[in-house]
Amino acid sequence: MTISTAPSQQFASDNLAGICPEALQSLLDANASGHQPAYGDDIWTQKSTDMLRELFQTDCDVYYVFNGTAANSLALASMCQSYHSVICSPVAHIETDECGGPEFFSNGSKLLVGESDSAAALLGKLTPDAVDDLVTKRHDIHYPKPKVVSLTQATELGTVYTVEEVRAIAAIAKRRHLKLHMDGARFANAVATLGVHPSEITWRAGVDVLCFGGTKNGLPVGEAVVFFDRDLSADFAWRVKQAGQLASKMRFISAPWVGMLEHNTWLRNARHANAMAQRLYQAIHGLPGVRVMHPPQANAVFAQLPAACIARLHATGWKFYEFIAGGGCRLMCAWDTQPETVDAFAADLAAASAQAA
Ligand SMILES: *Cc1c(COP(=O)(O)O)cnc(C)c1O
Repeated sequence: MTISTAPSQQFASDNLAGICPEALQSLLDANASGHQPAYGDDIWTQKSTDMLRELFQTDCDVYYVFNGTAANSLALASMCQSYHSVICSPVAHIETDECGGPEFFSNGSKLLVGESDSAAALLGKLTPDAVDDLVTKRHDIHYPKPKVVSLTQATELGTVYTVEEVRAIAAIAKRRHLKLHMDGARFANAVATLGVHPSEITWRAGVDVLCFGGTKNGLPVGEAVVFFDRDLSADFAWRVKQAGQLASKMRFISAPWVGMLEHNTWLRNARHANAMAQRLYQAIHGLPGVRVMHPPQANAVFAQLPAACIARLHATGWKFYEFIAGGGCRLMCAWDTQPETVDAFAADLAAASAQAA
């Protein structure tokens, strides 16, 4: 094995981080519990599901899948017929990063993207007006009938919909007879930012189905599809199985959820990641040539950096994505990002920007 001198933590994505200790301990406990029923009939799956019902204070239906693409694709497929459409932001993960999975698993339901140049759109958000425009501009039989609105919370641009914003979109959705889906790959970060009860930005605000991300928050693998509208989950188990997403040793997906939900570890992890993004923002937003595109509301900072700075940082070993949604560099903090990592990156950026200026 070669020893690298590159930084051991990175800002490329929150899925570069490992498993948090609490989730790992539950995984080990589940492994030490001998032979257990397969396909979700085990005590860990029962327990994590009950914990999610308690967390959301409602009798929701919960299914576990391996990743977020499957969670979104299968959830949307259960909300649509093939001739329906799903309204989302132009930077939505379902639109840009799921390789057509939602369309594939729904047998052709089309994604319709909202406007891209409004103030809200530049923050990665859909607005009630954008939704209404797409619903009302056509009613004819040649247009795929809008059936679902999909929001990402926190958004792909590291912003967060307020409770009022979710409610306003839900109100339009309801008026137009659309269902509301929430891609919550970073749901925890949004809850941490808003400081509200998780029910307040989901079913109490009108969300029908939440894809609750665990991986980026410190799980090894696995997302929960949470149906608040239980009518929508009819036959979902078969959909999951057909899609190759039913884990036979499901306890190894669900047990880490138990560790994550106990003692609010999920929220603590998210608060930490968010705090690291704030620390990074404070350290870099005044540097010469650095233009932070908007103050971070979750665990990412988006900034335009001079090309020479980007090159120097990459040469130093820092990994991050450039030109994500809107042209900025995306600096993503994770549950385990250390303050020292933030400070080291900021110092390298400060040196690079002083040289570039
Ligand atoms: C990471 C992510 C997902 C899930 O991606 P997978 O790689 O399929 O797990 C979904 N939505 C958003 C917004 C994401 O950032």
